[in-house]
Amino acid sequence: MDYKEFYNPEESFSRSELEALQTERLKTTVKHCMDSAFYHRRFKENGLSVSDISTLDDLKKIPFTTKQDLRDTYPFGIASVPLRECTRLHSSSGTTGNPTVILHTAKDLDQWANAVARCLWMVGCRPEDVFQNTSGYGMFTGGLGFQYGAERLGMLTVPAAAGNTLRQLKFFTDFGTTVVHAIPSYAARLYEVMCEKGIDPRRDTSLRTLVIGAEPHSEDTRRRIEDMLSIKAYNSFGMSEMMGPGVAFECREQNGMHIWEDYFIVEIVNPDTLEPVPDGEVGELVLTTINREAMPLLRYRTRDLTRILPGDCPCGRHHLRLDRMKGRSDDMIILKGVNIFPIQIETVLMHFEELASDYLITLETLSDNDAMTVDVELKDMIFDDYSRLQTLEKEITRQLRDEILITPKVRLVPKNSLPKSEGKAVRVKDLRKKF
Ligand code: AMP
Ligand code: ZN
Repeated sequence: MDYKEFYNPEESFSRSELEALQTERLKTTVKHCMDSAFYHRRFKENGLSVSDISTLDDLKKIPFTTKQDLRDTYPFGIASVPLRECTRLHSSSGTTGNPTVILHTAKDLDQWANAVARCLWMVGCRPEDVFQNTSGYGMFTGGLGFQYGAERLGMLTVPAAAGNTLRQLKFFTDFGTTVVHAIPSYAARLYEVMCEKGIDPRRDTSLRTLVIGAEPHSEDTRRRIEDMLSIKAYNSFGMSEMMGPGVAFECREQNGMHIWEDYFIVEIVNPDTLEPVPDGEVGELVLTTINREAMPLLRYRTRDLTRILPGDCPCGRHHLRLDRMKGRSDDMIILKGVNIFPIQIETVLMHFEELASDYLITLETLSDNDAMTVDVELKDMIFDDYSRLQTLEKEITRQLRDEILITPKVRLVPKNSLPKSEGKAVRVKDLRKKF
């Protein structure tokens, strides 16, 4: 199979072809946005009119759209089409205030399925494959998003949905599953249960490709999962506001995620100043949708921190590549004035082969001082070897201090003793007193 084979002609576009297409689509989108009560008002308030936006550079004139805007206009205030033209909505619950609602027309759903099919094709999925989706179906877009994409490609799909690990494993063996979609924390869980049940992924399954995403994970975590399951794991990035999965995806080179620039215009800005960052620097990802009907979003602040990787990809696609997500600006921990991302801690932990994949960072106030504890599961029981445990704890603490500049308390805990979540893993518990 030629892995450079493209699913859509737009994949082979040169930079100038992509930019020409983006310019056309941006103009059409802006015009269409004037049918949205929200954008109509936004443009008016800022003295902007449709004719002010005729080049990609003009995008800068448009104010950012934020998650708060989506909440403030809940449920349908940003829609650019009447509701009767919409065929589905997805909603994210959110922890505060109104949830956010994303509307789709039939054409939006069609484009979305195409984007996911394109991603899966890019990593070598073909109609002969059997695709098992371990995502929750329903409002979480990882369920239906991958379902329709995999069907579009023509694979036999197994909509197993989340949980019930034993049943997932039975499906792997009975149906000959070759491609799995799972969040990283669940991929590790699948392996643990395989070991408990004496299932050897190499001997007893046909698993070949894993699609992992939806939550930040380090390169070491990916390599670990690949070794455990004897599989190739590709990073998949998406978000409900943009549609869901299918926004950016690694190709077979595994060197960053191509973001589909015939669907989105990409900006990376400094989250404080909102100015563009210099090329290649980390900042907040800002996306403009350019082929959506129901609810296009202009300059949407994703809160996700990443950078654009320099250079061309050997796969022949010129669509920009995003680096592995560093986290969300709202996930950043500020402890004793130091900014820390949970992924920095994960990166250190995953270097230790004695450690399993699950960890929990707890922040609490101990006698008026804020402190961090990192509980991390051990792979095997080495609890009888006290001095080995102590040496390991010390070494982990030292490496964490070097990375995050404060000294956490490290506790090694038995395998499977940390709470497991069905959806995205909860890595941080903040119990600090708020003064
Ligand atoms: P949702 O809209 O609920 O699907 O959540 C979207 C968010 O999940 C994104 O804004 C990211 O913060 C996170 N996310 C999705 N995919 C990835 C990925 N591959 N790596 C890191 N974070 C991700
Ligand atoms: Zn590539």
